[in-house]
Amino acid sequence: MALLQISEPGMATAPHQHRLAVGIDLGTTNSLVATVRNAVAETLPDQDGQHLLPSVVQYKKDGVTVGQAASEAAREDPLNTLSSVKRLIGRSVDDLKLVAGHLPWKFAGTNSAVPRIKTIAGEVTPIETSAEILKVLKQRAEETLGGELSGVVITVPAYFDEAQRQATKDAATLADLNVYRLLNEPTAAAIAYGLDQGREGVIAVYDLGGGTFDISILRLNKGVFEVLATGGDSALGGDDFDQAIAQWILTESGTEAAADDYCFMRGLMQLARDSKEKLTESETASIDLVLPDGSSWQGELSRDQFDQLIEAFVKNTILASRRALRDAGVKKEDVLEVIMVGGSTRVPLVREKVAEFFGREPHVEIDPDKVVAIGAALQADVLAGNKPDDETLLLDVIPLSLGIETMGGLVEKIITRNTTIPVARAQEFTTHKDGQSAIAIHVLQGERELVDDSRSLARFELRGIPPMVAGAPRIEVKFQVDADGLLNVSAEETSSGVQASVEVKPSYGLSDEEIEAMLRASMDHATEDMQARALREQEVEAYRVIEALDAAMEADADDLLNEEEKQAILTARDHLQELVCEHSEMNAIKAAIKNLEKASESYVARRMNLSVKQAMTGHKVDEFEKL
Ligand code: ADP
Ligand code: MG
Repeated sequence: MALLQISEPGMATAPHQHRLAVGIDLGTTNSLVATVRNAVAETLPDQDGQHLLPSVVQYKKDGVTVGQAASEAAREDPLNTLSSVKRLIGRSVDDLKLVAGHLPWKFAGTNSAVPRIKTIAGEVTPIETSAEILKVLKQRAEETLGGELSGVVITVPAYFDEAQRQATKDAATLADLNVYRLLNEPTAAAIAYGLDQGREGVIAVYDLGGGTFDISILRLNKGVFEVLATGGDSALGGDDFDQAIAQWILTESGTEAAADDYCFMRGLMQLARDSKEKLTESETASIDLVLPDGSSWQGELSRDQFDQLIEAFVKNTILASRRALRDAGVKKEDVLEVIMVGGSTRVPLVREKVAEFFGREPHVEIDPDKVVAIGAALQADVLAGNKPDDETLLLDVIPLSLGIETMGGLVEKIITRNTTIPVARAQEFTTHKDGQSAIAIHVLQGERELVDDSRSLARFELRGIPPMVAGAPRIEVKFQVDADGLLNVSAEETSSGVQASVEVKPSYGLSDEEIEAMLRASMDHATEDMQARALREQEVEAYRVIEALDAAMEADADDLLNEEEKQAILTARDHLQELVCEHSEMNAIKAAIKNLEKASESYVARRMNLSVKQAMTGHKVDEFEKL
């Protein structure tokens, strides 16, 4: 993969002008804000001296509470207290079925593609909830730094797809933040460790947070990071450890899993998390559980038992690490340094297994909670133009391939995963019918070959292609991904110059509704896909019926049908063909197929009689009875 170094024109500022820029780690579990002061990057505490802001928002009748207070309120007010919304951001209502199993909140009816959670303050989207967290961090930074922020760098998991990145930017827009760039979290960690000053070679970044696991393989070469591969699991983290302990407690205490007793479950999860964190320092954790009936249960969990509970999860992270190394084309012996990121890398078993796999002690010098925010702050400082001598920017890779649909429901990849961004790639296509005046362009994301297995990002049409024979038009489809990983697709028929495009791009100053409509527009295509497929199936069926009828009529229509009967069948046949050619509505085609079948019913019966007669000729009846 090519090394990429760019300097952004117009970013440099006069030396005396210091712009206030911060990095924000918008985490599933905890969020942080950091900045560079006196050439040192540091996270900013709140008034109580807390650096971590729990990513929890409690909605009230007259406002919202964010952070620790909200986290504490979760037990009493679970339905209005939203946590881990990062797992939901940029997801459609349909996607939610995959993650919503144990979500305690009430979701509003599905007339919206973006999930809406019912709270006492009305329905809210994960975008709005994330915006509340960002607002608090913004305010903290502005109060601490004494001025208005000029821009921010927000980190996202390497696994985030276009919709999730877009939704994160929308949240920033709602929080009135100017986003310089979204940055992959592992990349930020590498910047934080300043590994560009160190020995050259391969670096692995192992990030195990509350809700996600990311592994990135980087190569440091001549002071520049080359991203060789990223991988991981967007639904694996410390939350799973909590879940495993909670399950253990239920089993040990003989408590029926009261999944719909939200208050009890929230309390249980908190207890599980506290026990887990205790086990990082101690060999045992004592557990004191108040059961739903008011009685209590005491137990003790040892480090060894805990290790057994989480062994499979940790093993999965090692397997994903092995895969990422393979993707990167490097052997684990080639890895010079391993960086640990995320609160869950404090778990002793995790450190042990990672050290064992890579055959070296991982870096843990920088607080694993803060390392991502610190890297983001360093990057924000450069982008704000506060370091005019250092305009070299570390760039990221595309986490999932981007392509378009071609004939037969296949995906043609135009930009493959792990390509460094920004990037622009074009490919030429043509028409397959004479005189075709429009083509449909369906933009997809994913590694699978079939459209059905990929994520539908957008769909648009290029119209007004001048009539030409099939194969003559030259249609250039161009994909451009900017530094945030956001996509713009355009199509142009080059001989006539007609063009069309879609943008999956940030736009500032949008209203809440507009943002949602945009997201809805980018997600609803999944439904369109299904409708298109159903229509295609009906068309294929219609062709099959017409072809079979034509063949039959050519063979024996004159023998079996009088002129009037023949005309009736042909009228029904021609009507069906017309509907198919016009790509009529699916139900109309279905009805026309039925109609044709009805019109030819007695003809089909006569043909069957005839063929039975022919088959029986020369045979005795009892021969058939034996069959
Ligand atoms: P995210 O990036 O998903 O927001 P973090 O990096 O903040 O997550 O990590 C949060 C996770 O780390 C939580 O599951 C939390 O319980 C876990 N964690 C924090 N401190 C400890 C500890 N001392 N021992 C074990 N796990 C911890
Ligand atoms: Mg994290």
